[in-house]
Amino acid sequence: MHGKINMNRKGILYIISAPSGAGKTSICRAILSLFPVLRQSISYTTREMRHGEKEGRDYHFVSHKAFDKMIADSAFAEWAKVHGNCYGTARAILEQASEEGTDILLDIDYQGAEQLRDSGVNGVFIFILPPDMTELRKRLESRNTDDEKIIARRMNNAAGEISKAKNFDYLVVNDILDQAVEKVRAIMIAEASRTERIIKTLPEEFGLK
Ligand code: 5GP
Repeated sequence: MHGKINMNRKGILYIISAPSGAGKTSICRAILSLFPVLRQSISYTTREMRHGEKEGRDYHFVSHKAFDKMIADSAFAEWAKVHGNCYGTARAILEQASEEGTDILLDIDYQGAEQLRDSGVNGVFIFILPPDMTELRKRLESRNTDDEKIIARRMNNAAGEISKAKNFDYLVVNDILDQAVEKVRAIMIAEASRTERIIKTLPEEFGLK
């Protein structure tokens, strides 16, 4: 997010959650291209690889056994079961980003977001909403990647997920994609400009520290 690396600057953790079909993946992709220095956290999952996905780019695809071992080793900053599969964020990715001062984007479900919030992680929590449930179903159907049973399960879960939206710092309704991206971008710029974040990076001669 910043042209020059400032060693006094801590990386910002942006957590983006949404029910599937709300357009979170498209928003995250657009945001990553707008902020070339922003890094995406690649999660671990036990779910099957979808057509067009790539190991290490979309996820680290692992067995249940390997996932369980990571849980036992406390290797996850958060993990959750979503739509019957396990997903987790490696603690090491967050620690490294914070140390390097790199901003990082997490595309995770609300349960994971809650775990991070409860563990006292200093992050910016953003929830993406569809305009309404009819539009959400339409979007899930037009993806053509999941069968009717999976769509029904995701619709079912969406209501519960949306009820958690009030625990987030920001709500972005994704009606028109470009506008939703613009809102997320504005949130990120404002967060990066917060006094407590900027003050540590300013010259000593300002006498503000
Ligand atoms: P999908 O299977 O469609 O890629 O993702 C399903 C859901 O799992 C999405 O809501 C996505 O945000 C969430 N997810 C992906 N990675 C993680 C993770 O590391 N932790 C948690 N809690 N959820 C994740």
